[in-house]
Amino acid sequence: MTRSAPLPAPGLPLTLRGQPLVGVDVGGTKVAAIVADADGQPLGRAVRSMAGRPAAIEPIVDAIRAALQAARVGTSSPAAIGVGVPGRVDVGAGVVRHATNLDWFDVPLGRYLAEEFGAPCTVENDVRLAAAGLLDHVAADGARSLAYVAVGTGIGAGLVLDGRLHRGERGMAGEIGHVIVEPDGVVCPCGQRGCLETVASGPAIARRAAAAAVDAAPGGTTLAARPELSAKNVYDAARAGDAVALQIASETGRALARALSALILTCDLERVLLGGGVAAAGQVFLRPILAELGLMRADSPLLTELVPAGSVRLLPPHFDAVAWGGVSLARATAQGSGQAP
Ligand SMILES: [Zn+2]
Repeated sequence: MTRSAPLPAPGLPLTLRGQPLVGVDVGGTKVAAIVADADGQPLGRAVRSMAGRPAAIEPIVDAIRAALQAARVGTSSPAAIGVGVPGRVDVGAGVVRHATNLDWFDVPLGRYLAEEFGAPCTVENDVRLAAAGLLDHVAADGARSLAYVAVGTGIGAGLVLDGRLHRGERGMAGEIGHVIVEPDGVVCPCGQRGCLETVASGPAIARRAAAAAVDAAPGGTTLAARPELSAKNVYDAARAGDAVALQIASETGRALARALSALILTCDLERVLLGGGVAAAGQVFLRPILAELGLMRADSPLLTELVPAGSVRLLPPHFDAVAWGGVSLARATAQGSGQAP
């Protein structure tokens, strides 16, 4: 079903000019909506908290309304809406089959928003949506085969191959978070041992740092003083030169570098763009990844050719990759293709 045709757009033929495009990023804790014109210029943005479990749809409607209001586009309905959701999506039907963080099963979000706003609405998995949207972004630097890798509470990749979004047989392409990087590592909720997520996700970084802080010599790390650690605490401490935090950042970078090079080699990607909550730490997060890739490259002409310097880049912090992907999808929907590129 994931690859079936989208629902036909209801109503009159669309005139894209003059009608705004809406992109939405539905997350576990908040929803962000962006309103843009046909050229992709931002007109308005709004963020609302997601509440309740199963998560209510009202905050999504609220965020879109507020973003439209901020965009001062009057009462004209959007040309189209593109929505990214963290979970399994039946893109053709506009139904979220399962989203763990929202506690959603079979939620017909596309139809609901289409009726609410009188505009066609396409729903896509969030990471894949971001990847598709990045094709047009300056960060992609013209690459036609790229991955967007979100490093946050979980780790997932969206793949664009030869200019087209790749969903895979089950719509699950890019589940890089469950590639094994430590065969003797910690058991992952997925049932395997030593998945990338057990090393490099936000919670895993916090867990490893807490354990390292307990083992550190008294006064050896500022991390020991904190009752509860987050990945952000770890990278803040690393930035300030804390040796234990730097070690955790280095191990995280090594695991990510191996998984990313495997992804690049497998798919012959030109670019990997990193985003997500953990990646928002910036250079202190990126540097160990690039350092490890550099070491791997130094010994391998193959890697030098296929994973050259500049392959892996960080998206600007606070860039709404998913919501902007939604704008791109909305444009495609309004232009009649209704599919991410
Ligand atoms: Zn796993």
